[in-house]
Amino acid sequence: MWKLVSRINPWMYGGLLLGSGPVTWHVSREYGWPAAWSSLLVIVLLTTLNALRGPLSAIGFAAAVGAITASGAVAVAQPVVSGTWTVVLSVATFLTVVGLSFFIHARKVEAEFEVAELQDKLTDRLRALYELQRQATEVVSSINSGSATLLNDSDRMNRTSGGSSSSGEMINYPMLLLSLQDMARSIASNLDMDSLVETVVRTAANLLKCTDCQVYVWNAATRTLTPASVTAAPDAPTKHVARPDHGVTQWVIANRQIITREDLEKDYALRALLDDEPNPPDALIPLAVGGELLGLVVLHGMPANSQQVARLLPIFATVCALGVKNAQLFQRIEEMARRDGLTGLWNRATFNESLDRLTQQARDQQHPLCVVMSDVDHFKKFNDSFGHQAGDHVLREVARLWKAALPDSTVVARYGGEEFIAILPNTNVARARELAESLREELQAYPLDFDGQELHVTASFGIAELNRPAADATELVRLADEAMYAAKKSGRNRVCAHGSNGTLITAQT
Ligand code: GH3
Ligand code: MG
Ligand code: MG
Repeated sequence: MWKLVSRINPWMYGGLLLGSGPVTWHVSREYGWPAAWSSLLVIVLLTTLNALRGPLSAIGFAAAVGAITASGAVAVAQPVVSGTWTVVLSVATFLTVVGLSFFIHARKVEAEFEVAELQDKLTDRLRALYELQRQATEVVSSINSGSATLLNDSDRMNRTSGGSSSSGEMINYPMLLLSLQDMARSIASNLDMDSLVETVVRTAANLLKCTDCQVYVWNAATRTLTPASVTAAPDAPTKHVARPDHGVTQWVIANRQIITREDLEKDYALRALLDDEPNPPDALIPLAVGGELLGLVVLHGMPANSQQVARLLPIFATVCALGVKNAQLFQRIEEMARRDGLTGLWNRATFNESLDRLTQQARDQQHPLCVVMSDVDHFKKFNDSFGHQAGDHVLREVARLWKAALPDSTVVARYGGEEFIAILPNTNVARARELAESLREELQAYPLDFDGQELHVTASFGIAELNRPAADATELVRLADEAMYAAKKSGRNRVCAHGSNGTLITAQT
């Protein structure tokens, strides 16, 4: 029955109800009340089924159609009641059918939520059960192997790979699957590199039962490894310094293969690596996607001879590598969305965000802040004379000069076509004028080489300082723009600043 109900499209209930309208009308008119009631029951049944099935919009539609039909039927079935009571009964029927629909839907949503909660609880219980089962298996196997020591969980966590062996360990597959599910979910849902690294370290501790985990990011251009994680364990074993040109690390980078201490000790070919590095970590895991090396995970204090851990290592490596690749791609896309494609400077949207933040900060700390705006002079003529490619080259070079000439704390952005803008935190108007003046002079003197041609451009600059008199970010940009146009008007290739009393100060060139 439920299968049949589920097959009916929620919107079809609206159609069925529309169809049942004339039937109900006819029945109530011809046969009076008892028969009209039965048609009303059909309407209520259809509305109820739809409330259990459909999305809210379909429920609303069907409820309205059902209610109108039902109230209409009541109004027509005059023999029982008449006059104002017909209207009251009709309205009451309308409200009952609509209310019933939404009440049933609300109850259904509540019930679904409760079921989801129960399922979560059940998974937790299952997990606890499997964990107990695993511990019991360990106890049994340690008794069987003649060991008198029963290892509890914290003992195992603290044990280093040189400790007791659990070669009799049986793999607890349900537990393994749950652990994998946890690991994949937590690593795949992290798009921020810092929190991803934290998740990798935490997952390594929980899943691989290691006492220390270091994550490195690989730079293919410089062939260097940069540490991305800070170890959490204060009593971590002697740190292994991952050197890409040395010992085990070099081997892992060259071969893109996981290596464990056991591999090193057992494999004759690999044993030679121990001469270079007598105290290697318990495992070195390369993070690679499609042959591209992204990083390295170094593990210490892992349980020795654990089949479960041995099975988890490659899966851990794959999931971590995909997580890192994902985070890096996301970072790159975010960066691209924030920068101007031609010059590599911040784009206007990023500039506006930074200006709001920095003006608020300057206000809170009562520090000065200036905005410098600049526009390349006669750039249209330049493009017409030398071509747009030469123009693009000039814009890239101007951007480079801006970045090189201004302090590191400056936020430099491309504001529009040939317009550049900078936020100078902790800078008053006098200092901003000095900086803009030196930038102007440098640009004027700088020969921009393009295809063997020596090109020269100049630019006009406008400056405004926060609170002198610009009260907020919008006002700052408006006044800097105004000052820049004053510089253009007074002959171009010059710096013009807004004074605190609203006057414009233009430097003569
Ligand atoms: P002014 O001194 O008054 O600023 O004169 P101008 O010619 O620089 O100003 P105008 O606004 O008339 O022209 C701006 C020119 O900048 C027009 C446009 O072709 C050029 N431009 C804008 N964006 C780009 C770009 O990305 N590449 C190149 N090559 N040219 C650009
Ligand atoms: Mg211009
Ligand atoms: Mg312009």
